[in-house]
Amino acid sequence: MNTTTNPTVNFAGTLFVVSAPSGAGKTTLVHRLIESDPLLRLSVSYTTRAPRPGEQNGVHYHFVSPAQFRTMVENGAFLEWAEVHGNYYGTARAWVEAELTAGHDVLLEIDWQGARQIKARFPACVTIFILPPSFAELEARLRKRASDSDAVIAKRLANAHEELRHVHEFEYAIINDCLDVATQELIAVVTAERCRTAKQAARHRKLFSEIAALSPTH
Ligand code: 5GP
Repeated sequence: MNTTTNPTVNFAGTLFVVSAPSGAGKTTLVHRLIESDPLLRLSVSYTTRAPRPGEQNGVHYHFVSPAQFRTMVENGAFLEWAEVHGNYYGTARAWVEAELTAGHDVLLEIDWQGARQIKARFPACVTIFILPPSFAELEARLRKRASDSDAVIAKRLANAHEELRHVHEFEYAIINDCLDVATQELIAVVTAERCRTAKQAARHRKLFSEIAALSPTH
């Protein structure tokens, strides 16, 4: 296989990509997954948007200026980047590649544009989309979230609908109706992907080389 076009073949770790419209509960689900799984590393993206109250630089995002972001784009520092709701977001190439090379599994929480770029670059990545149970529930969740004006809520809803249109580009779709069920489903996807024979062979090289050395009995 050509490792230039499919670099993940050399990585023992698995790259997971999770996308969702805002209001689907992605952040809560991802945090539950990360807490339950010490082997999974969450990538911290770079963004030009301003920090929200409580957000810490280097923890929730690396907050950078548009000029800093542009320089990083020019230097090839991002595996993918996109404009989302008027701000720029990007995934750090060096950190992700180092983690995967070390055999760790990495999770990216990015939008559909970023997911599309990552899939093109790393065909072996696993893409997961989180859905709300219904349009009515999505709207109710967006309304509950903040004391925004109707115009702001309408804009968020339109953005969410745009994101939803891309669900078929993802390999897994998890419907977040009951949070516990959705969490279990997300954990199940990660677990199943880790049990793929090729991944087990990369992780358990001694066992698989002993199998390869067996002499045929018939
Ligand atoms: P927020 O500003 O609400 O944290 O995120 C807005 C949107 O940007 C979400 O859909 C989130 O998944 C997406 N996003 C966050 N980080 C990245 C990134 O590094 N790349 C891309 N393409 N999207 C991102």
